[in-house]
Amino acid sequence: MDTKILLRVERALVAKHGEAQRDRIHRGLRQLADRWRAEDGDERELAAFAEQNFLSDPRALEETARRLEYALEMLDGHANEVTREVGRFQVLEEGTRRPVDGLLAALSPAAHINDDLFQGRVAFVALLNFPLSSLEQRLGEGRRWTREQWALARLVERFEHRLPAAVKQEIDRVSSAAEAYIDGYNVFCGRLAGAGFPQKLKLISHWGLRDEIRGLYGRRGGLRRQQTLARVMERIVRQEIPAEVVNDARLEWDVEKNLVRAGGGWQSAPREKDVRYGHLLSVFRAMQKADPYFPGYPTHMDRAFARQREIPEARVRALLESVLTSDVARQVAALVARRLKRPLQAFDLWYPGFRPSAELDERALDALTRERYPTAQAFQSDLPRLLGALGFAEETARYLGERIVVDPARGAGHAYGAKRRDDKAHLRTRVSAQGMEYKGFNIAIHELGHNVEQVFSMSRIDHTLLEGVPNTGFTEAFAFLFQAHDLELLGQASGAAQESSEERAALRTLDRFWSTFEIAGVAILDMEIWHWMYAHPDATPAQLRQATVELARRVWNRYYAPALGVRDSVLPAIYSHIVAYGLYTPDYPLGYLITFQIEQHLKGRSLGVEMERMCRLGRLAPDVWMEQAVGKPLSSEPLLAATSAALGKLAR
Ligand SMILES: [Zn+2]
Repeated sequence: MDTKILLRVERALVAKHGEAQRDRIHRGLRQLADRWRAEDGDERELAAFAEQNFLSDPRALEETARRLEYALEMLDGHANEVTREVGRFQVLEEGTRRPVDGLLAALSPAAHINDDLFQGRVAFVALLNFPLSSLEQRLGEGRRWTREQWALARLVERFEHRLPAAVKQEIDRVSSAAEAYIDGYNVFCGRLAGAGFPQKLKLISHWGLRDEIRGLYGRRGGLRRQQTLARVMERIVRQEIPAEVVNDARLEWDVEKNLVRAGGGWQSAPREKDVRYGHLLSVFRAMQKADPYFPGYPTHMDRAFARQREIPEARVRALLESVLTSDVARQVAALVARRLKRPLQAFDLWYPGFRPSAELDERALDALTRERYPTAQAFQSDLPRLLGALGFAEETARYLGERIVVDPARGAGHAYGAKRRDDKAHLRTRVSAQGMEYKGFNIAIHELGHNVEQVFSMSRIDHTLLEGVPNTGFTEAFAFLFQAHDLELLGQASGAAQESSEERAALRTLDRFWSTFEIAGVAILDMEIWHWMYAHPDATPAQLRQATVELARRVWNRYYAPALGVRDSVLPAIYSHIVAYGLYTPDYPLGYLITFQIEQHLKGRSLGVEMERMCRLGRLAPDVWMEQAVGKPLSSEPLLAATSAALGKLAR
């Protein structure tokens, strides 16, 4: 861009709007010119556009911002709705799968919106009139900004980068394929030779396998079956699993010897051949194509941390390591071993024995949830009651119940929020032909936490530009908060009795710690895999498999071996998120830390009232949100201190 022309426009605009506007004019022109491309017009057109569209009258600015806010809500909200509805056949259990389902689900009507806003020059109006902010500004002076300033910061930030629709569509396409792969990755446990699982038991990797391991503690023959499942996971991570036993019940599989049979003799079978890592590589390559369009955030890691989470990667790593290498980690591990009365095994990272549910019989719970929720509709009808039991006022519970639609899902379940005030959030949950299982219920309550957050932060917020929470770690916090109450909601545990018992409270804290400890290593592994892919952009799926196995072993030996005493496990690599969700896993441990801080804050306060207040803060920067929500920035200190105190209480 010819700076002489910019100077001339600046002079003309200062003459028209006055000297007091010079700084705004200078900055606005710079923001505009930096993003204006040859295809948007020549320099004369840029100059004419700036002269026509620069505003200095406060009322004109305010009305323009308000109109942009409404227009974006309409564009995003309707595109979100269309995406959800054309993709439903792929994700909902509404009949036989047809080949067209995947094609429809891969359509992305939202992919063009930002391009169109640039082409139609709407984006340039925002860039010319409202200031871009840096992460440092948002984390610093952002603490003193008004709601309007935050909304404007979010408005213009959207146009900081110009990502072509083709790149976005490619990301959506490969992510959708990877999701379909993991959503259909079932293991028929009844076909695991000599393991003694119920004939019909079919478990999805990794969620179902992991939760089955959790459910087998304290059951007769449980240890052997847990070991078998852990072995299945290892074979999936290493891709030694025979291709033909994935999502297929025809073959019997001897996991230890890795042989299969179809009635006749045992024989070896071709392995899955790195399909898992092929998907991860295509996600990586699609994300990599976006790199040139984010000058300030040149890798997917930069975008995932500094841009999307607004917490720099180094700070996240430090938070996770503070948990993984804490003194209490070894002490809690030693306590787990004492409670199990045996040396720890790698899968004991999933030890659920600090939770009250561990004392309950899961089969009995299955019977209960199946009877109560034979269909997704039955769960829908029960929403107001469930929300009331969680502490929401009757009117609020009804309001929420009307804005959350329960759908039967093919996968484990997820929450799909709305993007305009009048649309509804969707809760996708797995309900088998026999009704909802307890695990499904537990997940559904987690998703309900997401949905409630989504409704408050979309439909009840002052500025839709601030819709949502600071990052996905925060929405996970509310989901965990709900999930922790699942047994009370089934009438299986009295919250009051739990709180009154000091020991119970201590156990709950230890459970929080153990869950955070477990997933923190997965998150670090996820981060290391992404760094490895960036360092080896031409890797083959087989090389990525080898690297993942090696990185998993290293993460294990560094963070888990000292506490558990077992070496060389690769179990943290089983997480399906690593394959399909591009660095999502750090949000879980961050979510646990945030949850813990929020829980501490909620002690003696009403969940219903406080959750609504917090969700209506919207998408501020994380630390700013935390300060306004609970009075302190994000930290692992409260969890570590409470864990130490809990250990002390149990030792007494
Ligand atoms: Zn979640």
